[in-house]
Amino acid sequence: MGDCGIFGIYGHSEASVITYMGLYALQHRGQESAGIVSSDGSILYHYKGMGEVRFVFNEENLRKLKGSRAIGHVRYSTTGTSNIYNAQPIKVDLLDGSLAVAHNGNIVNAYSLRRELESGGAIFHTTSDSEIILHLISRSKDRDRVEAILTALRKLEGAYSLVYLDEDRLITARDPCGFRPLCLGRMDGVFVVASETCAFDMVGAEYIRDIKPGEMVVISKDGIESMMIHKSVSNNLCIFEYIYFSRPDSCLEGKSVYQTRKKMGRILAEESPVDADIVIPVPDSSNCAALGYAEESGIPFEFGLIRSHYIGRTFIEPEQKTRDFDARIKYNAVRNLLDGKRVVVVDDSIVRGTTSSKIINMLRRMGADEVHLRVSSPPITHSCFYGIDTPTRKELAASSSSVEEIESFIGADSLRYLSLDGLMKAVGTKRGKHCIACFTGDYPVPIPEEAGKEALEKVISRIRLF
Ligand code: 5GP
Ligand code: MG
Repeated sequence: MGDCGIFGIYGHSEASVITYMGLYALQHRGQESAGIVSSDGSILYHYKGMGEVRFVFNEENLRKLKGSRAIGHVRYSTTGTSNIYNAQPIKVDLLDGSLAVAHNGNIVNAYSLRRELESGGAIFHTTSDSEIILHLISRSKDRDRVEAILTALRKLEGAYSLVYLDEDRLITARDPCGFRPLCLGRMDGVFVVASETCAFDMVGAEYIRDIKPGEMVVISKDGIESMMIHKSVSNNLCIFEYIYFSRPDSCLEGKSVYQTRKKMGRILAEESPVDADIVIPVPDSSNCAALGYAEESGIPFEFGLIRSHYIGRTFIEPEQKTRDFDARIKYNAVRNLLDGKRVVVVDDSIVRGTTSSKIINMLRRMGADEVHLRVSSPPITHSCFYGIDTPTRKELAASSSSVEEIESFIGADSLRYLSLDGLMKAVGTKRGKHCIACFTGDYPVPIPEEAGKEALEKVISRIRLF
């Protein structure tokens, strides 16, 4: 579920500690819950909890995660379903042993698969679509586990990058469109897998390659074996990974996220220049794009907004929210720097438009003369069904409002977005390759009855009643 982070390692004496470190590096992909399942070859050990990695794990519970194999997960917070049952990895005990799975992405046919399984007697413990994968495996008639997993994965539609662990092997797989990233690395002679390469840097592993769309890799004591889940695959990595989700120190498809974001900023400056005194980012997500904008335009780069790194969950009364307290807790503007200045503020994206309007307000309060917003991605007009927690279509600012309307709603002197062509040029891609559905509505995998989310909501509300 959601845009989560996954990690796995096979055959290392400190497997769970390395997984814990890997999850630290992937923390930006999800802060709602964290979990690790390890194996010593005969037993699967399990620990998960709500909140960030640093709050979930300690020396004591890590020590209990024995064995030389481990998988881990950080879960992205989505509304309404925040509970420990949905934390991953999900582990189950079957007749012939235990298994666990950690998953990143959304299965778009989750609703119909779940109904089918339930009508056959399956009892679900979570509202997460990841549990479906385990049910499909457990019900498979294939005697061989690898075959059972292949059969199960062939029934899934949508996005999955996953790691699977049982007593004997670690299996990792990526859906045939390759929506979410997944890569393979090596350290101390053993294999590691992670959502992003920054996790390899963290644990001292060397990047080998990306797991291919539609590929399943089995790692066991016999070595490593690659097979294809589907014959026909495409390459539709989510372009939002380049824009926002991945860490700038990661590489996607061998390309630096940092450099790609900088290019977005450069092209944005070419496309939409403005006379101004300073360029500032909305830290940290737009730092690289703002640098690119500044370099290309020749306008000095400054940190006009300072972000607090200590905000976690805050307790703000609804009444205080209307006074922008949530934005003020996260950001403050540098007063003397802004005084009397014409400011270009660069953000990576506008979703609902709330961040930008609050920030523009703040910059004006702190003395900025003019505030021009430049966004390093095109207008988001469509919801994501493959793992990013975008709101429903009507909540997206650009789904029903024009750029001029948003400009006036957020109170900017001018608002310009990066063009879709500009974005594709920065990423070095062309139409039909990366998933750009949030900007165009062209979904690479059809969404059953516009369903995905709505259908899942129904399941979730039913479970809550239960
Ligand atoms: P808005 O306030 O317009 O709803 O959201 C825009 C801001 O949210 C931007 O600063 C952007 O960096 C950030 N953002 C974009 N996509 C996501 C996302 O999927 N999750 C979270 N938490 N923030 C996002
Ligand atoms: Mg941001």
